[in-house]
Amino acid sequence: MVELAEKPHLLQPDPEKLNRWLQERGQPPFRARQVKKWLFEKRVTGFQEMTDLPRKLRDELADHFELWTTQVVRHQQASDGTEKLLLQLADGGRIECVLLRDGIRRSICISSQVGCAMGCVFCASGLDGVERNLTSGEILEQMLRLQHLLEPEERLSHIVMMGMGEPLANLNQVLDALDEASSSTGLGISARRITISTVGLPEAMDRLTRTVPRYHLAVSLHAPNDALRDQLVPINRRIGIQRVIAAADRYFDASGRRLTFEYVLLADINDRPEHAQQLASLLRGRPALLNVIPYNLVPGLPYRTPLTSAVQRFREILEQAGLVIKFRQRKGDQIAAACGQLRRITPASQKQ
Ligand code: SAH
Repeated sequence: MVELAEKPHLLQPDPEKLNRWLQERGQPPFRARQVKKWLFEKRVTGFQEMTDLPRKLRDELADHFELWTTQVVRHQQASDGTEKLLLQLADGGRIECVLLRDGIRRSICISSQVGCAMGCVFCASGLDGVERNLTSGEILEQMLRLQHLLEPEERLSHIVMMGMGEPLANLNQVLDALDEASSSTGLGISARRITISTVGLPEAMDRLTRTVPRYHLAVSLHAPNDALRDQLVPINRRIGIQRVIAAADRYFDASGRRLTFEYVLLADINDRPEHAQQLASLLRGRPALLNVIPYNLVPGLPYRTPLTSAVQRFREILEQAGLVIKFRQRKGDQIAAACGQLRRITPASQKQ
């Protein structure tokens, strides 16, 4: 594990770390619960706010542990309630995370890596490859930083691992963080409301199937045949659509949770009627939801969002085939909410 801060990161999940430390100081075991309650439920930003702990203990905690390892470099707010943070990690790497407000939903979109190695041609996150995996503490820290943006009466309701990076390429750290997020002594968000989005890595999907088929799984398909998918999602050349779908089916068998397939519509590339027809035959009969995502323009990339008429045509073919589809609404356009973009347009020297 990468330990980046000089002091141990308190948010790095390790149930024994705090217990042991408290025990060495002769503190009762319930102190650990108190600390977690302050962090996850009462949303404090520092040890001094943990007012039911003895003052000396608060000082010692602050001397011994790092609570935050990231700095907020930018905080953007869109008029639709979407907020986005650009965070700088202790080693200078930068990641993005987003809070989305939709009715009573408060969803957060979390990054799993600095950059991404998958190389999807239309995506901003992978343009410079991957720098490193995030630690589970850094993944959890994004969640808490976004929770701090809520009003006191608002509660986080959903988590999507759809920020920068490929979560299944950093599965151990992602799962440790999600354990804490879904635990009743952590963020308490039900596993049913947590989505792991993957480019489709069959071995890692099978590991999820064997170990924790508790989360909602979304698979980024983006093309209905291998020739096109090989171009758009280069990792597909080593895998192939059939293996991805077979692994997704096994996950469904184990989890009983309806799968989601994601499909970013790119004008004149994967939005033609024959693509919709192929997609319909590929997914027919599966208890799956097809999530069609309008493309968020990425400066410097040649891809475009299809015209409404093309989207409509695409939709009708899928609906006629009886597929369950959702056309995702666009949110946070004004703040470059497609992950990986803010990082690219913010100069390295900029601080909040
Ligand atoms: N690596 C994971 C998580 C990535 S982000 C995965 O591939 O699923 C979540 C989704 O956003 C993916 O489906 C991804 O392909 C899509 N995406 C990436 N860039 C986009 C853009 N500019 N506009 C719309 N969707 C995009």
